[in-house]
Amino acid sequence: MLHTFKGGIHPDGMKYLTNDKPIEKLAPPPFVVLPVSMHIGAPCTPLVNKGDHVYMAQKIADSDGPVSAPVHATISGIVRDVLPYPHPNGTDVLSVIIDNDYKDELDPSVKPFDVGRMTTVEIISAIRDGGIVGHGGAAFPTHLKISSGLNKVDTVLINAAECEPYITSDHRILLERTAEVIEGAKVLKRVFGEVRTFICVESNKQNAFDVISKRLLPDDGITLFPLRTKYPQGAEKQLIYSVTKREVPSGKLPADAGCAVFNADTAGAVYRLFSEGLPDMRRVVTVSGSAICTPKNLEVRIGTPIDALINACGGFKKQPERLLMGGPMMGNALYSLDVPVIKGTNAVLALCGKETVPFKESSCIRCGKCVKACPIKLLPTYIYQRYRKGSVEDLDKLNVLDCIECGACAYVCPAKIPLVSGIRAAKQRVQDARRAKK
Ligand code: SF4
Ligand code: SF4
Repeated sequence: MLHTFKGGIHPDGMKYLTNDKPIEKLAPPPFVVLPVSMHIGAPCTPLVNKGDHVYMAQKIADSDGPVSAPVHATISGIVRDVLPYPHPNGTDVLSVIIDNDYKDELDPSVKPFDVGRMTTVEIISAIRDGGIVGHGGAAFPTHLKISSGLNKVDTVLINAAECEPYITSDHRILLERTAEVIEGAKVLKRVFGEVRTFICVESNKQNAFDVISKRLLPDDGITLFPLRTKYPQGAEKQLIYSVTKREVPSGKLPADAGCAVFNADTAGAVYRLFSEGLPDMRRVVTVSGSAICTPKNLEVRIGTPIDALINACGGFKKQPERLLMGGPMMGNALYSLDVPVIKGTNAVLALCGKETVPFKESSCIRCGKCVKACPIKLLPTYIYQRYRKGSVEDLDKLNVLDCIECGACAYVCPAKIPLVSGIRAAKQRVQDARRAKK
């Protein structure tokens, strides 16, 4: 039986472009660009200066902020500069640029951990020092997700839904690096006190489901959980509902529903940390879209400029009309190929032709499709109307802050009303008003 949530949509998955492409390792680039902010929370402060030699895996930026994760060198070499540099978020962010000496000289302090002998506090501290953040896109620091869920969480969910169209990086990881995901899941299970643990996979990845079910042992205490293919099945609240039938209360976190959700490759990063001592320094990125010559799944060092990924896929075969980091539903527009891969980069898409059909907005016909599609049970059409002509109080009453910006409402709207951009601006208005009241 396949499990799911209420609402949602079924966009064309477009995963056939890369779902049978094995992961290729991209050679380390001539230089990497490592922003001091690759996580939600306060930016880090650089610990190195121009001209310094750095080892691979050496910590090069850190912060005292509670919602931060340190940054590590992903190659060995010489710091070319520390300066503001274009970031995938569209702004310039302080970044450490390292020129590659092509030696991959590992920091001498790096060594595997004996995780079986470590306490919960030691495991959390190691995950923090390893700079691990969510690899699914949100980049929430993993140590904080664990520490804030201790004594609340009774269910760990390894999120391998990968519901965004085009993206297949997690699918390939499940197929090719199954042991990494399972072993990482076992560490996460243990840190919460051997709680029930599920690896959650959508039905469009049957081969991954089969591979994992063969590798899981009864003693692992991990259950494979089948999900219906639907967008946004991988959103935390929808995944939690699908598996446990629990609802995360408005304004609360998954831990308030007794759950902790980790992306499949985040579990892999946890495994690599404890088995090899390596911090968060590489990830798999799907490069796809009809403007790409040869779409691929590439394993790259974090900090690799995006143009190196495009070149590794043979460049553009057509002029892209839309460049995205992430999926077409929730990804960010990319304005430069100079920006680097960051910890949350799961895909780079170059779209053109039918993939980017220009739309003409018309008036709302009150069809209610947006309401039916909303997985949070919001009223997108009313929120949009109140955003155009209403008060902050009206917007707050419509629970606009619960919107996860999944884009399902705008996708189904026959009038092509830009619901998500309006709702995003409405959220900002409510947040500004709340801050002003404090
Ligand atoms: S209102 Fe928000 S949560 Fe609901 S469908 Fe639209 S973008 Fe998704
Ligand atoms: S889907 Fe579009 S046209 Fe239909 S009710 Fe919602 S906003 Fe109006």
